[in-house]
Order: sequence, then structure tokens, then C-alpha cells
Amino acid sequence: MPALTRPIATIDLDALASNYRSLRRRLEGPGGPGHHAAPAAMVKADAYGLGVGPVARRLVAEGCTRLFVARLDEGLAVQAALAQGVGPGRARALEAAAQIYVLDGVLPGTEDEMVSAGLIPVLNDQGQVERWGGVAAANERELAAVLHVDTGMTRLGMPPDEADRLADDQTLLDGLSVEIVMSHLASADVTGSDQPARQLERFRAIRRRLGRGLASLANSAGIFLGPEYHLDLVRPGIALYGGAPLPEAGISPMETVVTIETPVVQVQEVPSGTVVGYGATHRTEGPTRLATAAVGYADGIGRAAGRTRTVSVGGQRCPVVGRVSMDLISVDVSALEPDAVVPGTAVQVLGPDRLLEDVAAEAGTIANEILTQLGHRYRRCYLGDPRGQAGDPLGHSPQPHSH
Ligand SMILES: *Cc1c(COP(=O)(O)O)cnc(C)c1O
Repeated sequence: MPALTRPIATIDLDALASNYRSLRRRLEGPGGPGHHAAPAAMVKADAYGLGVGPVARRLVAEGCTRLFVARLDEGLAVQAALAQGVGPGRARALEAAAQIYVLDGVLPGTEDEMVSAGLIPVLNDQGQVERWGGVAAANERELAAVLHVDTGMTRLGMPPDEADRLADDQTLLDGLSVEIVMSHLASADVTGSDQPARQLERFRAIRRRLGRGLASLANSAGIFLGPEYHLDLVRPGIALYGGAPLPEAGISPMETVVTIETPVVQVQEVPSGTVVGYGATHRTEGPTRLATAAVGYADGIGRAAGRTRTVSVGGQRCPVVGRVSMDLISVDVSALEPDAVVPGTAVQVLGPDRLLEDVAAEAGTIANEILTQLGHRYRRCYLGDPRGQAGDPLGHSPQPHSH
């Protein structure tokens, strides 16, 4: 295997597309697609750290027409990404093909930016509804909107009494075209929780009274709770990017999208009783071969101690020993043949041999945090670009293209 020259994050857009299609198939009844809209995609936080440009372009190419971001600026970035690398006519076609929804909604002072960019706010309270209605009136045209009702998460969305008042008197919605009525599940991935069922009941009731828009409740985990949660439109995030939708459900049905590999920088043989790394927190218990690899907490490999942490070298699990530094980790590679580990040998931090949910569990966190913390120091290599430029499947090429 050629030497790995630098840390590389490989993002497999074909696997992303395959995950999108498999979620879409999951919505189908025995009789075919039924009434479900194509799944929306959550591309907030730079598409969970994967790079919103290539991700959004590929998802739109797969038939995804609804993209959600958290912030206004993220929405502008998605628009720019969709227009990037295509002619003006095609850019307009892509923009027309995909609606971009902003979860934070229309904050005071952002009205003009939202309107001129053609972004669609998720209206989270009566103030936002009034604000967006006012913008529609001032512009003398109907404006698209999403209504977010809180059904028990108590984070963002119209509180129950406010939603009830709006349902009773819908004049506040004059001038708005409500495309979607949504709510968000707080405990979809909590085994045995009865909260999802209570939220579903509450959501159905308020949606019926509002009587407009596509009904949308399920995130990735919600999709796997069963068909009653699918309603008109689902909003997966982490499952698209390879995360297990339900952590307890055993082997993930999703394909691995992100692989992180980094080269060994130095190898040394040390005697028993040698201390390793900052704070001398690790002491070898026998003659040990240590490989120092080029990845650290600046690359999202958390420093918090107390957990075993493993990487994969040549398909073999090896423990990380001592503290994680900013740029480096020390790996005990004693189990491998001496000539199997040399400077340039690839250490897999995340990927087919180090599954996202296992890495997250070892780090005491969730897959979403692992992905969004990856940082910007990796050379990124996108496989299966929508425009048909395949990258080197192993990410070992001396000059992997980046986007
Ligand atoms: C982030 C988010 C999702 C997607 O959640 P996943 O668990 O990543 O699938 C769906 N809906 C809302 C409102 C969100 O904020």
C-alpha cells in the first residue's frame, strides 16, 4: 500500500446517496411510494461537518427538494454551493429545484435578507409569524413559510397555548403560504420512551386544526419508530451521514460515509515502565512498540480521558495510549509485525473498521458530535461527485482533489 502522505477525510457521496435512497424506500408501503414527499435533508452545521457544498449538490441530484439549515448564513452558503460550478441557467434550475428552510426562523433585522435570498423561515413563535406576515404585506406578495409547533421538547417552536390560539384564529397567517407544519421529537432514540407517542398525538391534533401544510415530525430515529411517524415529510440528518438511527438496534442499516485516515509519523520501541505523553498518564507494562500518528484534539479527537480509545491499523484494533495532544496521538502497535507499521502507514480513526457509533460510544458522546467536531485540517477527498469525477477510492493518491 502506498504511503499515506497526510491526514485525509474521505467523504463518499455515493454512500450518502445510497443512504438517502434507502430512507426514501423505507417510507414506501407495499403499494409503492404512497403519498410521502421525498425526504428533506438536514444540512445544518456544514452538513454535519461533511461539507455542505458537495453534500447539498449530490442530495439535490438524488431528488431531494428540501434542505434545512439552522442559520440564515448557512442558507446563503447552501445557495452559493448549489450555484457553484454550474452555468447561470443550471444554477437557476438547481435553486428552483431545492427549497432552503432556516430553522432559526426570521430574527428581527433579517427580514430583507431572507426575502431577497428567497430563503424560507421556520416560524417558531407568534412574533415570527407576525414579523413574516408583515414582510409579506409590505412586499405585497405571498411568502412561503414553515410553522414549527412544540409538542413537548420545549426548546424551539410555538408553545401549545400559542399554537392553539393560532389554530382558532388563523388571520395571522394571511399572506403566508404554509408549506410545512412541523414538530421535533425529543426522545425518538430513547428505547422504551413513551414521549414520541405523546408528541405524535399532540402533533396530529394541532396539525388537523391548522389544516394546512405538509405534516413533518420524524428525524432519523423517528423514521425508524414506524410508519405512523412518517406523516407527509421526514427530516433525516445523521442517518444520511452514516450514523445509526437507533443506537440500541444493533448493526446500523446505514452505509459508512466518512473515513478518516492519517499517517504514522514516527515509530519507536520502548522498554517496560516508559511513561507516554503529556502528564505521563500512561506507563508501558512491557516492551512496547509505539506509533505516533498525525491526529489530535484539533482534529476532533477529543482529549477527555477515562475512556479506551482505539484506532485501526491494517485492519487490526490498536489502543491509543496516554493523552491526546493537539496534533498527535500515541498508538500501541505491539500486536502488529514490526515492518507493518512505518512512517506513512495509514491509521484509520473513523471508517469501515472504526464505525461511527463505536467511536462515539468510546468517546462518551453521539455520532452527531463526532462528525461536527472533525475540524478543518483534513485534506478532504470526495468520492462520487455528482458531476462524475470519481476520486481515488482509497484516498491514497498523492494529490487527492478537494472541493
Ligand atoms: C437536526 C434536526 C433534525 C435531524 O436530526 P437527526 O437526528 O440528525 O436525524 C430534524 N429536525 C430538526 C428540527 C432538527 O433540528
